Amino acid sequence: MIKERLESILERIEKAKQRSNNKNVKLLAVSKSFEIEKIKEAYEIGQKYFGESKAKEFLQKYEALKDLDIKWDFIGQLQSNKVKYLIDKVNLIHSLYKESVLEEIKKKKDFKVNVLIEVNIAREPTKGGIFEEELKSFTQKVLSVENVRLLGLMCIPPFFEDKEKSRPYFAKLRSLKEELEKEFKIALSELSMGMSNDFEVAIEEGSTIVRVGTAIFGERV
Ligand SMILES: *Cc1c(COP(=O)(O)O)cnc(C)c1O
Repeated sequence: MIKERLESILERIEKAKQRSNNKNVKLLAVSKSFEIEKIKEAYEIGQKYFGESKAKEFLQKYEALKDLDIKWDFIGQLQSNKVKYLIDKVNLIHSLYKESVLEEIKKKKDFKVNVLIEVNIAREPTKGGIFEEELKSFTQKVLSVENVRLLGLMCIPPFFEDKEKSRPYFAKLRSLKEELEKEFKIALSELSMGMSNDFEVAIEEGSTIVRVGTAIFGERV
């Protein structure tokens, strides 16, 4: 099952890339709440890039799968007291937006950390992320921390049955990225946007990392 689903998603990603002339898209398999066995299954098919959203669960899976050549990203709400456990194990943190977390990373100066800033793109009270009007000042702070490498932005728009409704939010995130690049004279290579329901639209709007869970592993229980 996972094999067919994964192949079908890779094919859909390929088509969306061609349609939009977006050459650079990675598939992050979001394995949160799914068993180790399912991760192994996807790994054996060739998927090497996984994302988790809870620190404790991530650490358990990391330990259990240590011998495999997996790259792990952290995509969930991050508490500053968890930073020390994750910092040497994650490839990329997608969800930086709290100063307390940034401060904690700064203290661990022996570790270089790749981050994306999460933007609360639809200003939803239940979601994490920074509001647009605070993005520049927060970016300035992130750029001032020596052991942090800012690679881009991430967002989680509201869920819509009609995936076209996500498009304006994805376009918005891309334009925010372009504004930051201009303002700070930097290049940001990554836009983490698009999930099971809307990843093709996200790719058309310039996504470079699509975070797909249920479309690969099935419904979460
Ligand atoms: C769970 C989750 C995903 C994957 O969602 P699916 O709808 O299962 O593809 C992507 N991004 C984040 C931040 C998540 O928490």
